[in-house]
Amino acid sequence: MSIFSNEDKISLLKDLVAIKSVNGNEIEVATYLKDVLNKHQIEAEVIEVDEGRANLVAEFGSSSPLIGISGHMDVVSEGDAADWKYDPFVLTEEDDKLYGRGTADMKAGLAALVIAMIEIKEAEALPQGTLRLLVTAGEESTQLGSKYLRENGYMDDVEAMIIAEPTGDVINIANKGSMNFKVTSRGKSAHSSMPKVGKNAIEPLMGFVEHVIGTFESVNQETDFSSFDFTPVIENFGGSKDDTEGNKDLADLLKRAVLTNTLFNGGSQINSVPDKAEAYFNARTVTEFDNEQMRDIFNQVLAEYEGTGAELSLEMLLDLPPIITTGDNLLATLSKEIGEDKLGTDLLVGPTTGVTDASNLLIDKGEDFHFVVFGPGQTSSAHQLDEYVSKEAYFNFVDIYIELITKYAEGK
Ligand SMILES: [Zn+2]
Repeated sequence: MSIFSNEDKISLLKDLVAIKSVNGNEIEVATYLKDVLNKHQIEAEVIEVDEGRANLVAEFGSSSPLIGISGHMDVVSEGDAADWKYDPFVLTEEDDKLYGRGTADMKAGLAALVIAMIEIKEAEALPQGTLRLLVTAGEESTQLGSKYLRENGYMDDVEAMIIAEPTGDVINIANKGSMNFKVTSRGKSAHSSMPKVGKNAIEPLMGFVEHVIGTFESVNQETDFSSFDFTPVIENFGGSKDDTEGNKDLADLLKRAVLTNTLFNGGSQINSVPDKAEAYFNARTVTEFDNEQMRDIFNQVLAEYEGTGAELSLEMLLDLPPIITTGDNLLATLSKEIGEDKLGTDLLVGPTTGVTDASNLLIDKGEDFHFVVFGPGQTSSAHQLDEYVSKEAYFNFVDIYIELITKYAEGK
């Protein structure tokens, strides 16, 4: 007998969507979920990590295996709500779709995990093992929530991890690293009729951008990449079943490290010599071109500007390493078996270019760690206008998680 009817499942998701946790206010989601869990005699702790921001940790069971299940509570901005078909913070059902900000990324996944946890507890379906729910703040920005959990030992004894991010018809077992850099150039303002009196901050920074990208590309060209094989999931990146050559080219491109200049700001008005300019970069790293090498490239190019009169300074705003597991384990095998059975479709298993909380949570785990990112919703709907999750997929994932967790605990 299920505790949650389909109406109850919808109503839980509706409540979560109604809480505006746009890059903040996760504490309200955490407190809400704590109450839900407490009603079913599951102990839960709200851990404040910043003003209005909190993680939630809940646990029951004893001994091994310790299975971690995780999701984040923050959502990205709705943009202009007037551009949405429905109010982004009112869960709206149409056909099989549930619309609302965060439905796909990832309040449906989070709700499915919480419901699965309660169903397992109430049915006493976990005869051995421990289930630990790790719910985070700030996944979409600085990942302060997952960073806190790892640094404070919540991952130390975790033996397997399921993250319920939306993955469509894919199970992810690895992701690239992500880094953000900011380079600031200082100059001296002056009237643009007398530029020699000032010092233009934009000019050296433009040179820097070109120089750092060029240096990166030349090292990148010489590097042999093999740690990220996108071939098994190539269809998810625009490849097609019959196009062997095209798929090979695409996989070759995807396995490489990437560096992009994403923002450039400078100057304050049209007739002044700019006294400040800033350039931002996002990098995606892999094993053969890792975070340290990427940082070295920036430092190396920066050093070349010493003594030139340019005043450039570097800040690193994000530093998440690549995470790789082999997928050769019971958790990944069961995810594919149970997922294909319940969803009635083939599932691809492989890496992704996107980053999740795994980048923090799995830092100290090796490639043999049991890990999947597997959840309801299409990645293509995440962060978009009219974000939605399929109602059927949401319901299916409750069943998938229940079976996956209980079978894994039995089989371990
Ligand atoms: Zn997400």
